[in-house]
Amino acid sequence: MKINIHDIPDAGLVLDFKDEGKNIEELAGRLDFSFLSPVSAHLDISSSEGMVNVNGNMQARLLVGCSRCLKEFQSGIDTDFSVIYVPGGEKETEKELKPGDLELNYLDGHELDTTEILLAQLSLEVPIKPLCREDCKGLCPKCGADMNAGACGCGEEAKTDSKTDARFAKLKDFKVK
Ligand SMILES: [Zn+2]
Ligand SMILES: [Zn+2]
Repeated sequence: MKINIHDIPDAGLVLDFKDEGKNIEELAGRLDFSFLSPVSAHLDISSSEGMVNVNGNMQARLLVGCSRCLKEFQSGIDTDFSVIYVPGGEKETEKELKPGDLELNYLDGHELDTTEILLAQLSLEVPIKPLCREDCKGLCPKCGADMNAGACGCGEEAKTDSKTDARFAKLKDFKVK
């Protein structure tokens, strides 16, 4: 949804809405994840001296591909954020802010696109190399087997047999006890 920043009342604007994942996908062109449910968002928008402040929260359920084992897994996003927008071209505003202040974003004309806000937050929240779990073992580089399901065997055979024997011996001892 697009909001003309001149339509933001002095008291601010509070929006609670759900955005279909496909709207965000269309805007992005391509995403490395898919949506399991609409994104719900709460935005608190206020405007002063040409700057637009957006404080918000968004929640989403995503299906993300693991960067190691390629398996898809569900990931929940629940994030609070705070962003400042200034109209494009009015770079003077930038100078007045000290470096290290909140990140500045430029508006396309006088319109604030809520879908763009959600997309920006999602790209911050979803890791570049997502993992289905912290210690995901990934796929065997030789046979492509999912190493999380246990050793595939092809790597073991390439190594010396003594290692394997020692491990099995230990396992045997454990069982006897
Ligand atoms: Zn994985
Ligand atoms: Zn293998």
